[in-house]
Amino acid sequence: MSLTDWDDKVSAVLFLGGCNYRCPYCHNWQIVESPDGVDDVPLDEVKAYLKESASWLDGVVITGGEPTQDPELLTLAAYIKSLGLQVKLDTNGSEPDVLEELIGRHLVDYIAMDVKNSFGKYAETVGTLPDLDDVKKSIEIVMDFAAHEFRTTVVPDLVEEEDIVKICGYLRGAQRYILQRYHPENVLNKEYAEIMPQRDDEMEHLVSLCEGKVPVTWRG
Ligand code: SF4
Repeated sequence: MSLTDWDDKVSAVLFLGGCNYRCPYCHNWQIVESPDGVDDVPLDEVKAYLKESASWLDGVVITGGEPTQDPELLTLAAYIKSLGLQVKLDTNGSEPDVLEELIGRHLVDYIAMDVKNSFGKYAETVGTLPDLDDVKKSIEIVMDFAAHEFRTTVVPDLVEEEDIVKICGYLRGAQRYILQRYHPENVLNKEYAEIMPQRDDEMEHLVSLCEGKVPVTWRG
């Protein structure tokens, strides 16, 4: 149960294992790298919990890992909706077809998509060779979907000021863009554990780079 993963909502949070990216600063790397090595909550238990909690929950946040990699995502979202609960999806935007299907079947109420970096630095930021056309298509799809936010984790020396300016340009027309302060704890690449997070005034400066282009804020 969470009061912080979906603004103004009481939510349950489901972490789906596996991801097609390997962001060096990933905090959930255990379920990304070896989901089979982490204790599962059996699906029946998840369903029973959601059913008995549906009266006081607003919705369910489906996160990961990368949920769109899970072949059961649509079935899971449909079950959640059948309980009268709302669905928020956290995604890296690598699977636009899955997003289209979720939206087309009214199985999602809010989408939070990561834009990892300016397109020229995407590969080093996500630790693999991404399909940028898919990322760009997902940005368009999410932008057209009423309830959304885009997010960038501002990793010092990896996501720089000029990258933020470029990303703001990609996101013109978006409803909400959030710059997330970097946190070095429990990261995938241990070299990133040495990187210091930004101060508040540095985050405020980064926000100022986007003002007038897209509604932007930061979170710590
Ligand atoms: S996309 Fe998210 S879950 Fe996947 S490696 Fe990057 S930070 Fe981790």
